[in-house]
Amino acid sequence: MTVIFIVLTIVVILLTAAAFLEVTTEAPVTSRATSAVQEVEVDEEEAEPEPSPVYFATMTHLEGGWTQALQSEFFFDKQASYLRQAYDYAEQYDAVITIESEIPMAEAMIKWDDNLLQEALDRGQGVGTHCDIDPRTTFSTQEIIAEFVARKEAVDALVDPSENLGCAGGGGPSDWYLGAVGAGFTYLDGIVGFHYLAIPVADRPEGWDNRSILQEYYHYAAPADDSRFYPVFVSEVGFEEDATGDLLISAGDIGAIQSIAELDGIEGWEGECDGPCEFTRQDVDVLVKRIKTLVEGRDESRIMKLQVYIATQYYDDPDMEYFFSEMQKLQEEGVIQWASQKQVYEALTAS
Ligand SMILES: [Zn+2]
Repeated sequence: MTVIFIVLTIVVILLTAAAFLEVTTEAPVTSRATSAVQEVEVDEEEAEPEPSPVYFATMTHLEGGWTQALQSEFFFDKQASYLRQAYDYAEQYDAVITIESEIPMAEAMIKWDDNLLQEALDRGQGVGTHCDIDPRTTFSTQEIIAEFVARKEAVDALVDPSENLGCAGGGGPSDWYLGAVGAGFTYLDGIVGFHYLAIPVADRPEGWDNRSILQEYYHYAAPADDSRFYPVFVSEVGFEEDATGDLLISAGDIGAIQSIAELDGIEGWEGECDGPCEFTRQDVDVLVKRIKTLVEGRDESRIMKLQVYIATQYYDDPDMEYFFSEMQKLQEEGVIQWASQKQVYEALTAS
């Protein structure tokens, strides 16, 4: 009996000791593991800064040729209905679109007492000026400034000038940098082939002489390479980055919404279609793929800007709602962030 009792006692003591050892030996292992995980997390934070945002903007232009807007209230009201449809979709799908106006529609808004630009701002959208300056005329510095000023003043008459900081277009053989800055603009969007006319041929894409630009490449996205997806400041005419420059080249063009599928979202305007391309859901699907490819391959250290051009009449197309809903998905997935042209400029000045 005694022997059995002693043996049992020893067994109990050994089991207790084993259990105790297990606890005491496990404890440091656990804490080492935890601290190792914490170290890894700290290292990751140090090695990978937050990727820069990818902004997605639109351009919609109220054209310089629309002089009938001042004669025909019917024409004006038709355009107004397209824009209000656009504002409705943008509100419904958390988008921020930008409307940029030339002189005729700006004056018509006053004549017909219907301020579509202020309404855009009131509804959370962006505005700006559109500069359809004659790309076949070479203006002196004073003249090119006056060209930009006339268009800026027409829009400043409708909204607070602090909302009207940029112009879409303005390219041609004249010094569009001096013209834009001289008129008080701080950014240009809608940069196209026309802008290369002011740049030496040696600094243009292969084959882009004056003649071929005016005949074919005039509306091609510029800068012609992928550098256009990263807005840069410049201090003279051209696309040479100068961080101390006072004009933002805010390009980012993927294309006109109705021709994205036809051109596979790469470049060009509507040359591939016989007449205007037809807008379909396929354009939106190709756009989504193109955006994802561009975003995946991007330089995360720089702010990226992507944009599409939407002519007013396409807002009336039944498939336009599909565009807004697909872009909303991309925004919710964190692929893009909607921004007005002015918000893109503000983000670049803040960084
Ligand atoms: Zn235009």
